[in-house]
Amino acid sequence: MARDPSGWMSDVERIPFREFGHSGVAEDQMYPRAIVHHVMSGRMGGARGMALTNPVGQAPSWHFSIGRDGAIVQHISIWDTGWHCGIDQSVIPDQLVQRFRAEFGRDVNSWTVGIEHEGFSIPAYSTDGKRIDDYLYGDDHPYPEAMIQASIRVQRWVWNSCQWLLDIPAPNDRFDRFLTHAMINPRDRPNDPGAVWDNAVWARVVNGVLAQPAPARVGPETPAVPPVEPPPPQRELDVVGAVSDLRAAMDSTAAALVKLGA
Ligand SMILES: [Zn+2]
Repeated sequence: MARDPSGWMSDVERIPFREFGHSGVAEDQMYPRAIVHHVMSGRMGGARGMALTNPVGQAPSWHFSIGRDGAIVQHISIWDTGWHCGIDQSVIPDQLVQRFRAEFGRDVNSWTVGIEHEGFSIPAYSTDGKRIDDYLYGDDHPYPEAMIQASIRVQRWVWNSCQWLLDIPAPNDRFDRFLTHAMINPRDRPNDPGAVWDNAVWARVVNGVLAQPAPARVGPETPAVPPVEPPPPQRELDVVGAVSDLRAAMDSTAAALVKLGA
């Protein structure tokens, strides 16, 4: 399979969920087709605690938590499914999500990596009615730069670990693979991540992820035969060139996905 072998970022904190999934995807056989951005409506301490105490049953789970200070915690291998989108057949998702569901599967969890960002996009209250959102995102409180940079770093790693994402040729099609929970469940999650995650922030993140893809990780570290031509001058061309020799590997991946019913 043409993919990064481990499914875990090597240099970030790990707090694995005791239980995750529920999408019927075999262990270590999830092939991410998109990334889903969430806002926690909570803090990193709560996210860590949920991962540590995750009860058995259909509890929420996701791949990465990212803190306002740039802290990164990975909870699930990107080759396994989380449960961060739910499934509600009565919800009509965004048209793009509808198209992807037809192509990749109705359960969005089964083909996405879920990333939770610390903080609140709408006011939150404790059970005794006390307001608990002490950093509500808005025009006066944008997403912290450290969190944006950490999110870009995580997503760039995810993207570069998945050869089938690198192989998407059209820039607009690559851009489409960055979803929000609001697109998947506009009825119940319209503020996830919320208005402050506007087009400007989104474009910054996505362009940051796609700007400098790492070289393909599959295969030997050093090519057996040195390249005979200097690399093309434009990064955009670099991307296409780097993945063009992976067609054969992609074919086998596609065959495996067909077998998986994806
Ligand atoms: Zn969400």
